[in-house]
Amino acid sequence: MLVLVINCGSSSVKYNLIETEDKSDVCKGIIERIGAVTAIVKHEPTNGKKTKDSRTINNHVDALNEILSYLLNADNGIINSPDDIKAVGHRVVHGGEDFKDSALVDESVLEAIEQAFDLAPLHNPPNLKGIQAAREALPNIPHVAVFDTAFHHSLPAKAYLYGLPHRLYRRYKIRKYGFHGTSHYYVSRQYYQMTEKPVKETKVISCHLGNGASIAAIDGGKSVDCSMGFTPLSGLVMGTRCGDIDPSILFYLVEKEELPLNSLHALLNRHSGLLGLSGYGSDMRDLIVEAENGDRRCQRAIDVFCHRVKQYIGSYVATMNGCDSIIFTAGIGENSAYIRKKCVRELDYLGIKLDEERNNNIKRGEINRISTDNSRVEVLVVPTNEELVIAIDAAKIASASKQSPWI
Ligand code: ADP
Repeated sequence: MLVLVINCGSSSVKYNLIETEDKSDVCKGIIERIGAVTAIVKHEPTNGKKTKDSRTINNHVDALNEILSYLLNADNGIINSPDDIKAVGHRVVHGGEDFKDSALVDESVLEAIEQAFDLAPLHNPPNLKGIQAAREALPNIPHVAVFDTAFHHSLPAKAYLYGLPHRLYRRYKIRKYGFHGTSHYYVSRQYYQMTEKPVKETKVISCHLGNGASIAAIDGGKSVDCSMGFTPLSGLVMGTRCGDIDPSILFYLVEKEELPLNSLHALLNRHSGLLGLSGYGSDMRDLIVEAENGDRRCQRAIDVFCHRVKQYIGSYVATMNGCDSIIFTAGIGENSAYIRKKCVRELDYLGIKLDEERNNNIKRGEINRISTDNSRVEVLVVPTNEELVIAIDAAKIASASKQSPWI
């Protein structure tokens, strides 16, 4: 089934046209800087010429129309009619407590996504805008919302409750939700397909290390803990997000620097993490190069990043009373042998032994084992594919089939 996957940010729309039958990408692209004087429009058909140009795209509706007119343009030879697309899958970051699975979009789903605006003010409003724009452009096919939080619905109360007065959970649903669910789900399923161990008996630690980063503990196929919490700000040190900090720092800063709420928000979300620690940048590639050239601020940022990953790995081994596999994925996890090595170094007490040669020579786009043959815990690099999870869920719901194509 041909499925269009849409991921809408405040000023961008990413798309993938996926054939779920053979899990292949037909075309993908991105429109950035929507609403600015000139937007950047990129289309990358799998069997065709990549294009990139700049022009005015006023809003998300125009962006969706641009994507459709590109796909339908006879010169590009991608699809002949909008009816070729059988479903649209939308990435929605926060599903609150309502969604433990993906959902066919109707008025009540739209309302629930809107109700979660407070919980994900940066993500849910543009996600909703994208759904509305896509429904306008493609009104006759099913639209499916796929939530980043859904996979973590299985967290037990002891993992999702904070040490706050319980009435705050009851009244405002203040709890841990967990994010990057589609990625943690995908890479763990890739592992189940290659191991002979029954899924029920496996314990996996999935490290999604990208610009946003999170770690999940997955026991018997179910997420039992995740480093991201009420919002995607907590847990690991990220590109520009601070990750876990002592909340008293906020009171202290308010007193010392008289920061208003919006400045605090910007400080923790946009000026912290690797960027804040290094004072140089948020891109791990740049930090590695500068650290190699002797920049101590960049080395410091990398050290803090890896130390936190290692601590979460140890903590999740304790949470699950064991671990069969540690998976590295996303931009940093898939591409940096140096960071992977630093994250699992000196964990031999837990039975984790890295094979340096394997770690340094992975095959891109494939599942790679980077632990030694006698390592009790397998360490793997698994390329993530969140778009494919969204496409398959959308196809499944659109065809109302109960059968999961995964396991
Ligand atoms: P997101 O989807 O959250 O924006 P990605 O998964 O694309 O993020 O990851 C982006 C991060 O991956 C950036 O910090 C980038 O520097 C890092 N990255 C990509 N390639 C490499 C590499 N070869 N070595 C180190 N880091 C890399």
